[in-house]
Amino acid sequence: MSVFHLEIVTPDRSFFSEEVEMVIVRGIEGDLAILKDRAPLITPLKIGKIRIFQDGKEKVAAVVDGYISVENHKTTIITEAAEWPEEIDIERAEAAKKRAEVLLKERPDGIDVARAQLALQRALNRIEVGKLK
Ligand code: ATP
Repeated sequence: MSVFHLEIVTPDRSFFSEEVEMVIVRGIEGDLAILKDRAPLITPLKIGKIRIFQDGKEKVAAVVDGYISVENHKTTIITEAAEWPEEIDIERAEAAKKRAEVLLKERPDGIDVARAQLALQRALNRIEVGKLK
């Protein structure tokens, strides 16, 4: 199968930079599968999984929201945070989930509901991806 270059960068590291056959990401309008020679595009990503296909095998990473840019010979994903399953501290994600759930249930004065909902989504996504290790 034809390959193209995929780069995933976060503020603290180059998370991934290799040739791949396909990547599937969660865009704001649903899942998006990128193959070689796809028409150029820039679109925001949602909190979710990145599924990378190489040599017929699949790798999965958790990402928070960001952007994907597809150019002729290269696809770049820029995100605030990305983790492989084995890097995910599930206890930490469980604690973040609990904090967000308590906030959303008790709704103390001044709570930023949207922010708590995003924290909950990040935690749920990490728990799901962390279980793949
Ligand atoms: P927490 O409240 O536990 O910090 P968060 O959702 O606010 O969670 P982020 O702001 O998304 O965390 O990420 C901050 C940094 O911490 C990033 O580098 C991210 O990769 C890392 N990180 C967050 N949660 C985990 C986790 N459960 N396991 C491993 N790394 C994590």
